[in-house]
Amino acid sequence: MDMGRAAAALKELGAAPYRLRQIARGVFAEAASSYEEIDVLPLELRRGLERAAPILCLRARSTAVSEDGRARKAALELADGLAVESVLLKPSPRRWTACVSTQVGCAFGCVFCATGAGGFSRDLTAEEITDQVLFWRQHMRREGLEGRLDNVVYMGMGEPLANYDHVAQSLRRLMDQRQHAIGARHISVSTVGIPEGMERFGEDFPQVNMAVSLHAAQDELRSRLVPANRAYPLAAVARALDKYLGRSRRKILLEYALLSGVNDRDEDARSLIEFVRGLGRVELFHVNLILYNETGTAFRATTEAEARRFQERLLAAGLKATLRQGLGADIRGACGQLAGGGPAHG
Ligand code: SAH
Ligand code: SF4
Repeated sequence: MDMGRAAAALKELGAAPYRLRQIARGVFAEAASSYEEIDVLPLELRRGLERAAPILCLRARSTAVSEDGRARKAALELADGLAVESVLLKPSPRRWTACVSTQVGCAFGCVFCATGAGGFSRDLTAEEITDQVLFWRQHMRREGLEGRLDNVVYMGMGEPLANYDHVAQSLRRLMDQRQHAIGARHISVSTVGIPEGMERFGEDFPQVNMAVSLHAAQDELRSRLVPANRAYPLAAVARALDKYLGRSRRKILLEYALLSGVNDRDEDARSLIEFVRGLGRVELFHVNLILYNETGTAFRATTEAEARRFQERLLAAGLKATLRQGLGADIRGACGQLAGGGPAHG
């Protein structure tokens, strides 16, 4: 939903400017799927707006619901026929979180990630990013799902900081009281670790949470798993984190997907502890351990018992560490499993 376009359409259609507030209420507060549903607007105007300023710039090709009902995934088709996947998660009984994509594909090629395996097609616009949230709000209303969608994580397909301007604009729209009205503290942006982007993000959005995908705390191993590490090694990421903390008081999440025998050994826990201690202010970091989700690579997931042991080592060293529950793996909607970018076939 582009409110600028709606305002222009109103003018064009000769409608009064106060109609814009009615549109915003219908679209954002009531999650109307079409102008037809916003019945305070005159019939003629609804038809004109439907043509001139469509509510969504994307449409669902398919949706899937996980066995436990706590994860939903949609393949969303964009105007040019490309598609991204987007996820709706229910981490607690009445709260919903949208996990949005920021690019069609991704150029960074992390070796365990399905998005990376598909290569990069293009950046998403701000509207294509925020419309994923709007799509899920409309979906919740249509399906009668209770609770509020009040959390957004930029953890879908693509690297948010490699599409900085559009991501920044989408964040402003999500936080805009007249639009999505989602609190900065309820938004998290995850990055593979691009130093300039991280510093800029800290300056522009000190209240929005940042997560960094670490996965290894030793350069040689990290360069193998996360090729971006060759351009932006750990020391550069650490410097960026230090600068970021000069601006923001938010806790930083360090993501770490456990791969059996690869980055879950004792020496890996030791490197991680050393790395976090080296950052100073240990209390400002939180290690989020993720069990590897199947993406058709040769990697195997660490068992839960082993993952707990890894977590215990971090805790014993005074780090904060949690083991994330993997939602949506049965519909390939969990971390790293999102794919599909091409036009529909057949
Ligand atoms: N490009 C950004 C945003 C994607 S977030 C980033 O990399 O941070 C998706 C998260 O899931 C990242 O932490 C990513 O490293 C992780 N991930 C990728 N593949 C995974 C897999 N197969 N299993 C578990 N986590 C994975
Ligand atoms: Fe891209 Fe993130 Fe996947 Fe790496 S983990 S390939 S940066 S989406």
